[in-house]
Parts: sequence; structure tokens; C-alpha cells
Amino acid sequence: MPECIFCGIAARQLPAAVVHEDEHTIAFDALNPAAPLHVLVVPKRHVASLSEADPELAGRLAAASAKVALAAGYGERGYRVLTNVGPDGGQSVFHLHFHVLAGRSLGWPPG
Ligand code: AMP
Ligand code: ZN
Repeated sequence: MPECIFCGIAARQLPAAVVHEDEHTIAFDALNPAAPLHVLVVPKRHVASLSEADPELAGRLAAASAKVALAAGYGERGYRVLTNVGPDGGQSVFHLHFHVLAGRSLGWPPG
């Protein structure tokens, strides 16, 4: 069993509600949703944060994030894609993930 929780989900050894998967990425519902749609898009291989991601992987995650939001029907109303990095960024799981949030008006700036 991998020690990293998102590696465990990517390997299908831990449960998750998977909404999208391709060769390099997997997307699943966040455990404590902050919006009606709250999906996490993660690389299948372990990468700690955006700081360690190569441009190709970052692009794949961004493209998969848009795909998830559009497939869920939020193309018109809009959505937000973000990734938290490090302590000040609010990162709590150290396997890179893009949050895809939609379904309510999202405040700005973030807290
Ligand atoms: P962050 O604080 O940016 O690192 O985000 C961590 C995200 O991981 C939060 O949205 C949590 O709800 C989510 N999370 C933590 N554990 C799990 C899990 N087992 N399955 C799905 N989402 C999880
Ligand atoms: Zn991992």
C-alpha cells in the first residue's frame, strides 16, 4: 500500500469517486467539498507539488481540469481551477492536485 494517499487512489488501492481518467491523470471528488462541484485532478505518478511538475504534466492537469468542469456542465457559468503549494499556499496533501470548483459564486481574493 503506497504511503501517499493520492498514489493509493491512483493505484485504485484506496476508494474514491473517480470522474475522469486518462493515461497520465485521474480525477475524483474531494472528500470535503468546498463547492457543489469539487474535483481533484492529480497525476498518476507521484509529484509533490506544482513546483516539481514539468510543463507537459502541468498542461495535462490543466486540460483535464477543464474537461472535468465542462463535462459537469459548468462551461457557461464558469468554474475555478487552482493548486495550493506549500504552507502559505494551504497545501495539506503533498501529491500535486488541481482543485476544480464550480456550482456557486466563488469569492475573490481567497482568504
Ligand atoms: P490541499 O489542502 O490543497 O492539499 O487539498 C487537499 C484536498 O484533498 C482537500 O480538498 C481534501 O478534501 C482532499 N482529500 C484528502 N483526502 C482525500 C481522500 N481520501 N479522497 C478525496 N479527497 C481527499
Ligand atoms: Zn503520491
